[in-house]
Amino acid sequence: MSQPLSGLLHHERPIFAYSSPGRTGASLPACDVPAVDAQTLWPAALLRDQAPALPEVSEPQVVRHYTRLSQWNMSIDTAMYPLGSCTMKYNPRLADWAASLPAFAELHPYQPEDQLQGALQVLHELEGMLAALGGFARVTLQPAAGAHGELCGLMMIRAYHADRRQQRRKVLIPDTAHGTNPATCTLNGFTAVELPTSGEHGVLEPDTVSAALDDEVAALMITNPSTLGLFETHIVEIAERVHRAGGLVYMDGANFNAVMGKLRPGDIGVDAMHFNLHKTFATPHGGGGPGAGPVGVTAALEPFLPIPTVERAGDRLRLDYDRPRSIGRLRSFWGNFLVLLRAYVYLREHGAAGLSRVSELAVLNANYLRVQLRELLHVPHPQHCMHEVVASDRDLRPLGLSTIDLAKRLIDYGFHPPTVYFPLVVPGALMVEPTESETPETLDAFVAAVRAIVDEARTSPDLLRSAPHLAGIGRLDEARAARKPRLRYQPDADDPR
Ligand SMILES: *Cc1c(COP(=O)(O)O)cnc(C)c1O
Repeated sequence: MSQPLSGLLHHERPIFAYSSPGRTGASLPACDVPAVDAQTLWPAALLRDQAPALPEVSEPQVVRHYTRLSQWNMSIDTAMYPLGSCTMKYNPRLADWAASLPAFAELHPYQPEDQLQGALQVLHELEGMLAALGGFARVTLQPAAGAHGELCGLMMIRAYHADRRQQRRKVLIPDTAHGTNPATCTLNGFTAVELPTSGEHGVLEPDTVSAALDDEVAALMITNPSTLGLFETHIVEIAERVHRAGGLVYMDGANFNAVMGKLRPGDIGVDAMHFNLHKTFATPHGGGGPGAGPVGVTAALEPFLPIPTVERAGDRLRLDYDRPRSIGRLRSFWGNFLVLLRAYVYLREHGAAGLSRVSELAVLNANYLRVQLRELLHVPHPQHCMHEVVASDRDLRPLGLSTIDLAKRLIDYGFHPPTVYFPLVVPGALMVEPTESETPETLDAFVAAVRAIVDEARTSPDLLRSAPHLAGIGRLDEARAARKPRLRYQPDADDPR
């Protein structure tokens, strides 16, 4: 083998390249029922005249191919994954175990309700636990992601205003918001109005909100703690002002892992909030899903919850589709059930005291990093942070380097890069979220890697510019990859052998 191992790993050929005519992965006994002629079942025009060119491979070839592919990605199971805002925390195997129990995994949502009582009980209790944590009257478990929860929340807010015969078209959003917030507004027919956060403290000021309030404002959409990792200290005053002007407060709860068990959003003036179960409460997060974004609401918004809801009827539970003011259906069946189940297990596993402790450790770990990173990089808001800390490349720029170079070099040190260039209010941002699940040793190793890279920036900046060097795939020309993507396997160009 002339290739280094990582080189071979990253040149896995497509499964078709292993195909050999007549090879098969399974040997089944001879068919003992009469064969049916496809022509008798389907119109001739719909039938293929040739079998599809599927790969003909042995079972070990299939297993090895996909196992090797699975090694390409850095994952939370192989390394620290400090993506701020995304909350890549360890996902307890206990939750996966429960989700793989046949009694749950093999349920079919069309089974009669009397066979689904166990599953409905999980949903009912999960709703109760999330409502208790958030301080809400009810919670819908339907939305399939945080962004879907935002959509659900704003649809309910729109229905609420329409119900009161009010035409309110604007939604106020601070400039630290995640991109999904303004996107959700637009999708819902609202106009997003951007509010500046104050430069020095990085939080939203009550007077900024007041200046934008009028009878056109349907809601304020605020992330708390914000994507700067800062608690919005004026939230109570701000919520009062929004309510006085007839608007509602929607909280993006993606960062709830910093405050769960400590603060109930319903108590500080929040009318609706989504939980990202795939960030805060177990469930592997990455690769695009599946997720779940349940939305908690106050009593005023309860009539508009999507259908179905799970209701108690005597000693039974049932799905209620008969809710006249509901915004309707958001998703097939009852949401991403197995994600909901994992969150249920996570909540039961930790209990109220344990969840509080999770928040404490998430905040402690972030501050442990903040204090050390501050010595190495510019940290624009050096005050106490919540679950994540945002640094910037200000001190690297005079060396002709930027955030992307540091991020790529971290891969060589065995760390997934943090979130880069977000939030937009910090130029060259590097947003680090350790979560509660990393050990002090891992945090120290991360800081040591950043320290080594900052030293290299002065002594051998080209090492950063051309990083990563140890990954199977080096630095790509991202603009060319986006403008002229090569999406087809080309055996001559792509095969190293
Ligand atoms: C992740 C995130 C979202 C979107 O949630 P998804 O589950 O990815 O759709 C919204 N806002 C913030 C602050 C987030 O971090």
